[in-house]
Amino acid sequence: MRQRNKPWAEDMFADNPELVPTNPNERKGNWNDVFHNNNPIHLEVGTGKGQFIIGMAKQNPDVNFVGLELSSSVMVSALEKLLEENITNVRLLNENAQDITTIFAENEVSRVYLNFSDPWPKNRHEKRRLTFRTFLDLYRVVMKPNSEVHFKTDNQGLFEYSLHSFSAYGMILNEVSLDLHRSEMEDNVMTEYEEKFSAKGSRIYRCEAQFRT
Ligand code: SAM
Repeated sequence: MRQRNKPWAEDMFADNPELVPTNPNERKGNWNDVFHNNNPIHLEVGTGKGQFIIGMAKQNPDVNFVGLELSSSVMVSALEKLLEENITNVRLLNENAQDITTIFAENEVSRVYLNFSDPWPKNRHEKRRLTFRTFLDLYRVVMKPNSEVHFKTDNQGLFEYSLHSFSAYGMILNEVSLDLHRSEMEDNVMTEYEEKFSAKGSRIYRCEAQFRT
């Protein structure tokens, strides 16, 4: 269900088509034209208020980033941040992850980021978790062979579940950190949730799961 408690958000998206492309389904197979280059495309699912994708875009100017966010009220904060920056390699889409195969063609995406995805802890809500096998099916369709899903969370239950889900799907777990902020990773870009939870003393879990061809 889309939250619409900021009704002006959608007008703001429409006013900024260079950052929030209209009719994303029509860009399917042609996202490199949107970015005017042939750089790889990395997709963040559940991009929230945009801190991660903007930080990553600054750190990786040779990568094109697309942020998918279901909630217009949340995504408008990402757009506001983006408008303050002079960044050309980020686009935002107010779309549902369930629809990614209508937005991207096969092999069009080189990496997927899932950051602090909603945990949906009840068993009966398993299918809503963004690491459930039906979502992995969708990512696999749009991603290049051997590409990776990078996943971070503070939620131990969701992390354990996701490791099982990736592994049951036949994915290779290349990096697994049970305490990211005390690990060797030097170029970590923090998300809003990551800052909030780590400030409260929560451990951050991270893994990189690679599809096999
Ligand atoms: N990634 C951000 C962070 O780490 O600060 C936000 C985390 S927040 C817990 C999860 C976000 O995922 C929410 O903004 C929610 O609207 C979005 N989301 C949940 N399900 C989604 C879906 N199916 N497609 C796109 N976005 C989704």
